[in-house]
Amino acid sequence: MDAKIVLLGAPGSGKGTQAKRLCQELGLTLISTGDLLREAVRKNTPLGVKAKGFMDAGKLVPDELVIGLIKEKVAGLKGGFLLDGFPRNLEQAKMLDTIAKVNMAVDLEVDEQIIVDRIVNRRSCKQCNEVYHMVAKPTRMEGKCDKCGGETYQRTDDTEAVVRERLRVYKERTLPLAKFYADRGILIEVDGQGEIDEVYDRILAAIKKFKH
Ligand code: AMP
Repeated sequence: MDAKIVLLGAPGSGKGTQAKRLCQELGLTLISTGDLLREAVRKNTPLGVKAKGFMDAGKLVPDELVIGLIKEKVAGLKGGFLLDGFPRNLEQAKMLDTIAKVNMAVDLEVDEQIIVDRIVNRRSCKQCNEVYHMVAKPTRMEGKCDKCGGETYQRTDDTEAVVRERLRVYKERTLPLAKFYADRGILIEVDGQGEIDEVYDRILAAIKKFKH
């Protein structure tokens, strides 16, 4: 399936969780700018050093840094892909147009109170980026990823104060992208609330329906 999908939605709307499953099922390459940036921070690369302060403060990393990453990953890619966390503003969306033709934009819609609960309870695997929720989806062994045994941790930007700033930035910069893609007739809005499996089935059904 040669789908080129962007996954929109607020932080904590379930993009990362759903993106992994969708890519497995549909055979798409997953590109998550958040995961790529966190890896750069962990490895202390020049990009990571520049990006860290913005990420810890809940701000967007400057476009020129993120755009470089995306160009490197998307250019030369064969087949379909799913972008998680990119584009985050109109400038990035316009840049993306110059390197690929996106054919679906899936927007996961979740109430703000639920988002805050999900994010402050989120734990992520340092090794494979799998995501857990302390109450709704805990690891079997405390602090250890079920999938790879890696150490789980709380992202430095997953505290309540930083979440509020991330949500503010989302509304101001990222939300307008829904209209950008709706104007092209490729926006697919999906209710992102409920169980992970339920949301996953909804997304898959919406994608399949859209294609026909
Ligand atoms: P995420 O994992 O998608 O929630 O991203 C975590 C953080 O990485 C964001 O709060 C931003 O600081 C940064 N980030 C991720 N993707 C982008 C992007 N497309 N543009 C700018 N900053 C980004």
